[in-house]
Amino acid sequence: MSVPPPKPAKGRAAARSKVVVPAARPGERREFRLQLLNLDRFSRVAMPGVVLRGRHDGPTLAVTAAIHGDELNGIEIARRLTNDIDPTYLSGRIIALPSVNVMGVLAGSRYMPDGRDLNREFPGSTKGSFTARVARRVLRVLDGADGHIDLHTGTRGRANMPHVRAHLDDARVAALARAFGAPVIFDQRGSQGTLRRTLVDRGVPSILFEAGQASVFQPYAIRAGIQGAMNVMRHLGMLRGEPRRPPVQLELEDAHWVRTSTTGLLEVFVKPGDILSRGDLIARNVSIFGDHREEITADRREVVLGLATHPLAAPGTPVAHLLEFRALPAAARKALARRRQLDG
Ligand SMILES: [Zn+2]
Repeated sequence: MSVPPPKPAKGRAAARSKVVVPAARPGERREFRLQLLNLDRFSRVAMPGVVLRGRHDGPTLAVTAAIHGDELNGIEIARRLTNDIDPTYLSGRIIALPSVNVMGVLAGSRYMPDGRDLNREFPGSTKGSFTARVARRVLRVLDGADGHIDLHTGTRGRANMPHVRAHLDDARVAALARAFGAPVIFDQRGSQGTLRRTLVDRGVPSILFEAGQASVFQPYAIRAGIQGAMNVMRHLGMLRGEPRRPPVQLELEDAHWVRTSTTGLLEVFVKPGDILSRGDLIARNVSIFGDHREEITADRREVVLGLATHPLAAPGTPVAHLLEFRALPAAARKALARRRQLDG
């Protein structure tokens, strides 16, 4: 009598195949690798991951960095969080993907090897482009987390003041964004295909931290990111204590870019985080022969969120990313009267 082969335990096998983050014991730190490419037996490309499990049970915070491969500050933020936090004092887990676009990091490029922007490809798919497949794998690591922080910097040629981007209509997202403690929260949903928006749609509260410039490590931005992530962990009950609040925290949503109208050389007079009034000079754009001069000024009360660092301008070059103030709470108005710079 022939015995039929055992049927595969569909449910269990499927559930097992979804486990991509290794289990860690209480107090343990484990590294893992998500295999991306296997060119041959000797040249493989994998995305690094770290899980840090606290001594006590609690929520899971996921942290991702370098989805844009030339945005490096977040790599150091994630490295320090997963190396310096003592799991004895931690409740719950930190799951970090410190170098998501690992090939972009190696090449110094924002983009994936197929030329796509990974942060426009979520939720990804198992049958789509290479970037879409990587997106799907990343999502499987992050699904089910209780909170997520995506770490970015300004794109090449721009510098951003440290700020959080979050969709404040979602109460859990708003709570994380406020707890992070950045001086500015840019209230926006995020473009279709971004990791942050996709996770929020899937029920994972996600915020994005922007700070500094591409291709460098900047201590002030790294410090702000570590402090912010620890504040979020205090808010979630993963670390003891209350989140540290900044002296001023503005929630703003009306952003716009001011642009050059002609080709020229840019001289910029403001810094990221500066508070501008109507008429303040932001930049001067002078033609190479000096015969044409364009002055770019603020036309309302606004904060400099991001700024061009590249000195060459063409018609339409973005110079400053500005966030408009509207009704300000009295406390913020008083604090602002004492300072002209939010970042610092
Ligand atoms: Zn980015």
